[in-house]
This record gives sequence, C-alpha cells and structure tokens, in this order.
Amino acid sequence: MEGNTVESLLQLQEIDALIGDRRVRLSALRSESETLVAELEGLEKETVALNARLEAAEEELRHAERTVQAGRATLKRLQTRAQEVHNMREHTAARAEVDAARQNLELAEDELLEAMQDQETARAALTDLEGDIASRQQEYGERLSELDAEHRRLEEEIAIELDRRSNRALRIDERARSMYDTVRRGRADSALAPLVDGVCGHCYTAIPLQTQQVIRAGRVLVVCETCGVILHIVD
Ligand SMILES: [Zn+2]
Repeated sequence: MEGNTVESLLQLQEIDALIGDRRVRLSALRSESETLVAELEGLEKETVALNARLEAAEEELRHAERTVQAGRATLKRLQTRAQEVHNMREHTAARAEVDAARQNLELAEDELLEAMQDQETARAALTDLEGDIASRQQEYGERLSELDAEHRRLEEEIAIELDRRSNRALRIDERARSMYDTVRRGRADSALAPLVDGVCGHCYTAIPLQTQQVIRAGRVLVVCETCGVILHIVD
C-alpha cells in the first residue's frame, strides 16, 4: 500500500462531504420550492371557490330582485282592486289579500337585503384574496427564481466535485478505493476515523495494541471491528 493512500482517501472523503452537503442543500431547496408552489396553488383554488360563491350570491340576488318586483306589482294590483269593492264582504276579502301580499313583499325585501349583503361579503373576500395572491405571487415568484438560481449553482458545484472526485479516485489504489466505497455506502458520516489514544476516533472502542501497530505501520487498511470505519493515524 502506498504511504499516501490514507491521505488520498481523506481527500476523497473531504470531496464526498462537500458533495453530500450540497445534496442536502439541494433537497432543502426543492422542498422549499414545493411548499411555495403548493401555497400558490392553494390560493388559486380558494379564488375559484370564492368566485363560485360570488356567482351563487349574484344569482340569489337576481332572484330576490325579481321576487320583490313581482311582489310590488301584486300588491299594487290588489290595492287597486280593493278600491273597487261593492260590499263589506268583498272589502274584507280584498283587505286580507292586500295584507298577505304586503307580508310576502316584506319577506321578499328581507331576502333581497340578505342577498345584497351576501354578495357584498363574497365580493370583499374575493378582492382581499386577489390582493393577497398578487402580493404573494410577487414575493414567492422572486423567491422561486432565487431558489432556481441557487439550485443550478449547487448542481454545477456537484458536477465539478464529482469530476474532481473521479480524477482523485483514479489515483488511489483500487483495493483501498473499493474498501472506502464499501465502508462509506453503509453510513451517512465519515468512512475514516483517526486512532486517538488507542481508541477508535468514531466509536471510541479501544483498539488492541497489535492492531494499533498494524495501523501505524500503514501497509494495510484496518477497519474498526465495532463500527467499521477505516482507522488511520494522525501525524
Ligand atoms: Zn469504531
């Protein structure tokens, strides 16, 4: 084994840590973008729902207006007819009809007021929401393009590091490299750890003296029997 194999593996590990860090940042960017897009979509759905509510309120209002108009016409017709009665019985009957028509008209007028209020409420809510959407679209749009630029920058950095990594890896003894890759595959953190005062610098298990000597000799790579990292000495 070349004396600088551990050195090269440590450099490889440094590059891998850089790549790992950028990948973590990339995935954070992605989830932030997804959240923003989902929020905008939510607002748009709300707009559609409010528009439907406004339409329904307007339809209700038109209906209430027609009812009031019809009620007024009926009342007027009955009042005119009530003036043309010929006796007390007809008078009483006409009076009852006029009273009923007046009551109906009052009800219709209440409904009209209510419909006007509903329409106003829906319209105001829609105006608020539209203002909110406009400002958020602006704000989120800016953030999304920032995220996009950052995303591209990180991907470029990753590509550069991957390139650097494969150049570096080519110069490392193949067995050492594949050992490093195997150890690394099974873990999220470092594949190498220093031997510190006779213990593994990763899991702090005591390393037998004989093994320590093998590590110091530096002719073969030694892994910690407890946690599996490649152990190396620090100058
Ligand atoms: Zn260990």
